[in-house]
Amino acid sequence: MRDICCGVCGNEVEPGLRRCPFCESELELVAVGQIALHKIINLKQGMPTVEQALARLDRELEQARLEQRRVLTLIHGYGSSGAGGIIRQEVRIRLQYLQHRGRISDIVIGEDFSTRSGVGLNLLRRFPVLRQHGDVNRGNLGITLVVL
Ligand SMILES: [Zn+2]
Repeated sequence: MRDICCGVCGNEVEPGLRRCPFCESELELVAVGQIALHKIINLKQGMPTVEQALARLDRELEQARLEQRRVLTLIHGYGSSGAGGIIRQEVRIRLQYLQHRGRISDIVIGEDFSTRSGVGLNLLRRFPVLRQHGDVNRGNLGITLVVL
């Protein structure tokens, strides 16, 4: 029975590992029950349509709220054309709408998830566990971080 999870991505992991098999960060373990404040959510898993990806986004935000997560990494992928690019665009439009409505407090796009960016630095100060995040300073166009 598993009873620990990764402090970076929030996935439950086996004891004794040095790196998280889900997010590949060095493991800083937290006990399950003391839920990790961050979780990685892959919206492009299963090659969804834009509508499916947006419905999944809504469900995951609801679930994250129930689990009392504070910050989420959404993997939406990218592309100049095709579904990946449209999902990225539509997810970010949806997030801006939710922020406008006061349902989420902050959005940091992958391009700004950097120690060279003011918003990136601010996020890392608020959530130091994100320094272990595999995408910090990578300019990853395919992710967006959300503060609940
Ligand atoms: Zn992890």
